[in-house]
Amino acid sequence: MKFGGTSLADMERIRHSARHIRREVDEGNQVAVVVSAMAGTTNQLVKWCQEASPLHDAREYDAVVSTGEQVSAGLMAIVLQDMGITARSFCGWQIPIRTSDIHGAARIQDIRADDLDERLGDNQVCVVTGFQGISSQGRITTLGRGGSDTSAVALAAAVKADRCDIYTDVDGVYTADPRIAPRAQRLERISFEEMLEMASLGAKVLQTRSVELAMAQGVRLAVRSSFADPDAFQDVRDGTNFGVPGTLVCDEDEIVEKQIVSGVTLVKSEAKITIRSVKDRPGVAAAIFGALADEQIVVDMIVQNISDDGRQTDITFTVPDSEYDRAMAAVSNNDSFEYETITGAKGSAKISVIGVGMRSHAGVASSMFKALSEKGINIQLITTSEIKTSVLIEEEYAELAVRALHTYYGLDREEE
Ligand code: ADP
Ligand code: ASP
Ligand code: MG
Repeated sequence: MKFGGTSLADMERIRHSARHIRREVDEGNQVAVVVSAMAGTTNQLVKWCQEASPLHDAREYDAVVSTGEQVSAGLMAIVLQDMGITARSFCGWQIPIRTSDIHGAARIQDIRADDLDERLGDNQVCVVTGFQGISSQGRITTLGRGGSDTSAVALAAAVKADRCDIYTDVDGVYTADPRIAPRAQRLERISFEEMLEMASLGAKVLQTRSVELAMAQGVRLAVRSSFADPDAFQDVRDGTNFGVPGTLVCDEDEIVEKQIVSGVTLVKSEAKITIRSVKDRPGVAAAIFGALADEQIVVDMIVQNISDDGRQTDITFTVPDSEYDRAMAAVSNNDSFEYETITGAKGSAKISVIGVGMRSHAGVASSMFKALSEKGINIQLITTSEIKTSVLIEEEYAELAVRALHTYYGLDREEE
């Protein structure tokens, strides 16, 4: 069971989340718990690092930002003990959760679960800090923002759990972010592949890496609400989705009613850079994107035009707004390729429509373009994959576009 920041925001919320744990314990389950930091804590810790020095040492950043989880793990263990449940807290290094040494974006490599297995066998609830681990140099690492989801899936795989339940402030995965599209509907089930696309294209309800890991390790993943009444859960145990309200992330063949479109997502603050009249010959794209890679800048969308005369072409790509200045510098101060002009601007948004049904249904992309044109929204860039179509638009229209597409694909919940 993993609890996110809002589910641990204060003592009352921690106690409420603990009642969900007690419910599972009372049903005879062995429970390992993964906790995030209390809501807002990690943001504050990140801010302090930036205030201390904008170019801070990544190892010390991890030493600071990992601390929020230690507080909530300890508090959760105390609250559980207070309820008469045997519980113990663990930091990443105590398990240990071994990771790579890329500070701030470490990847879990290995979890030693012997001690945990023994304790779970003795019906002790183990409360483990999410988000953090330990590198081969013995330093504390963190897994990137939202990383507790990944800690939970990795831990579930390590203890061979029957399921990994992600408790958060929504009662499942919705067809769009319910904060943006109030008529979004909860999905009973979603395939790993669609969830992976949704997470990487902006649905932050699960960290992308956690879905990847669940898919690779065959972990049954559910998203459900910690805000719900724990006692009410018992009434709905009917065998589907483990009998508990929420969304089950599972293999595509476990989903009977397949939708053509399962969700609409949004990523804001994308910057667009266009390099005009670069030589149309082998090696130019490699030089441009090599320069960006050397600066560790992650590029998102890439579009290259066909040139009219076979001699020159234009290349456009996007990076997060926060990387715009660095990306501009990397491609401008570069003599490994020739070009005429470089232009760019911050403030775009990427809207994506996702669904496995796109594999077999024509016209999903064209109806996306039609729906946007009806709202007078101009499309700047388009990219597609087998199960998604993404467009870049002006940020100002982002929410409007999500709602318009949600309605257009018939995803709106009936009004009560
Ligand atoms: P936690 O602190 O529990 O990890 P997060 O804030 O990381 O929670 O993720 C939950 C939030 O994800 C929700 O409050 C919701 O606004 C947002 N969200 C974005 N897209 C979706 C979606 N498609 N379905 C559900 N929630 C979504
Ligand atoms: N506390 C960390 C963060 O805010 C990890 C998490 O919440 O999953 O990013
Ligand atoms: Mg989260």
